[in-house]
Amino acid sequence: MTQRVAVIGAGPSGLAQLRAFQSAGEATPIPEVVCFEKQTNWGGLWNYSWRTGTDEYGEPVHGSMYRYLWTNGPKEGLEFADYSFEEHFGKQIASYPPRAVMFDYIEGRVKKAGIRDWIRFSTVVRSVTHDPATDQFTVTVHDLQADRVYSEVFDWVVVASGHFSTPNAPEFPGFDRFAGRIVHAHDFRDACEFTGKDVLIVGTSYSAEDIGSQCWKYGCKSVTVSYRTAPMGFAWPDNWAEVPLLTHVDGRTAHFRDGTSRDVDAIILCTGYRHYFPFLPDGLRLKTANRLAAADLYKGVVYVHNPRLIYLGMQDQWFTFNMFDAQAWYARDIILGRIAVPADTQALLADVAEREAREDAGNDTKYAIKYQGDYVKELIAETDYPSFDVDGACAAFYEWKHHKAHDIMGFRDQSYRSVMTGTMAPAHHTPWREALDDSMETYLRN
Ligand SMILES: Cc1cc2nc3c(=O)[nH]c(=O)nc-3n(C[C@H](O)[C@H](O)[C@H](O)COP(=O)(O)OP(=O)(O)OC[C@H]3O[C@@H](n4cnc5c(N)ncnc54)[C@H](O)[C@@H]3O)c2cc1C
Repeated sequence: MTQRVAVIGAGPSGLAQLRAFQSAGEATPIPEVVCFEKQTNWGGLWNYSWRTGTDEYGEPVHGSMYRYLWTNGPKEGLEFADYSFEEHFGKQIASYPPRAVMFDYIEGRVKKAGIRDWIRFSTVVRSVTHDPATDQFTVTVHDLQADRVYSEVFDWVVVASGHFSTPNAPEFPGFDRFAGRIVHAHDFRDACEFTGKDVLIVGTSYSAEDIGSQCWKYGCKSVTVSYRTAPMGFAWPDNWAEVPLLTHVDGRTAHFRDGTSRDVDAIILCTGYRHYFPFLPDGLRLKTANRLAAADLYKGVVYVHNPRLIYLGMQDQWFTFNMFDAQAWYARDIILGRIAVPADTQALLADVAEREAREDAGNDTKYAIKYQGDYVKELIAETDYPSFDVDGACAAFYEWKHHKAHDIMGFRDQSYRSVMTGTMAPAHHTPWREALDDSMETYLRN
């Protein structure tokens, strides 16, 4: 009987899984693949929504992206090996595309593959259970448009629901009486809201760096970033300061650990996200920190406590799209029986332990980038995903870190060479700090 595979989520990871099966070729019988996507369209986080809180059906909004977002790393690090930017746009484009351009690129590959029919949109997965007697899963979903809950049985489940959507939002004393706006990065949508304002950002993650830069670019009065362990340390503009951790808020005054204080109009919590899977019971639910060697995942994808359950994209990410592809092709070949997973749970756990130890052995960014590059190489060596110059992609990331250290508000004006086509990206027509219009038409204009 034909095997059935449920894929949860049609973001870049879930779409990679669909494309992997579609690319297996007409000669290979593939399982029936059903993808459940709670949003009305594909693209995951790249499918922008103005909504915050809950959507039109009362479901928590998945999107964490905002207007004017440009990629925070060079596109040359994330390019699909089977679908280059040049193939999609008919020419090479500049290295840091805005979100709409990225969405178009993501969509281009799956439109070409013709797999939209595999996806049931506006359908949220409510629960997944596993029956040890049959070794099958029952997936219960809510078709939000028809308002119908139903269940189907699958032989494999691929969780590709992302992990940058459920906020980790700490509270500080005085928040309940703060006389301004407090918002987590997940709900940040438009920097223009903060024009002319004094903004306090809590955290030093990519969100802190980018949301602060957005607020600066769109004319906020000042940015203050509060750090827990260490400042980001870039050469920030004059109206930007880094201060120790927030201790409490009194009215509009924010107080910090070093005894200093500042009056602020808004507080943006860039304090990260939680891996959150409300549809999974304890025995199936991944519990991991946001790290390169995610806990309990053999080869970073197979859930060690139930190897018919696959997780994609659950790692902290330097590499993204082509890493998700490497994982999806690998998962596909396990499901097709081309790759064997050891039957012994201890062997699976040993693989995880080795990855964790190797990650822990390094303590700098270059090590982490190479670590993840080596992981991508390891997976693609075992499948027919098109091989590419992963070391070249790592080199682009090293260069990117260097450019940021040199000019944090100018690094997006740099260009890199595609490791897929060998073509150098052109310089963008407008420096990032002056490019206020992030539309695709404007970006692609020569
Ligand atoms: C603000 C921000 C900026 C970023 N910028 C970059 C960048 O510049 N470059 C880069 O490479 N990466 C960036 N990322 C990283 C991003 O995680 C990846 O690019 C990518 O979107 C991850 O893909 P994914 O498919 O794993 O997850 P997601 O994109 O999160 O997609 C998951 C999908 O699963 C669906 N889903 C979730 N739960 C359910 C459910 N119960 N039932 C059905 N469907 C469900 C969601 O609706 C969504 O469509 C950024 C992330 C954020 C938050």
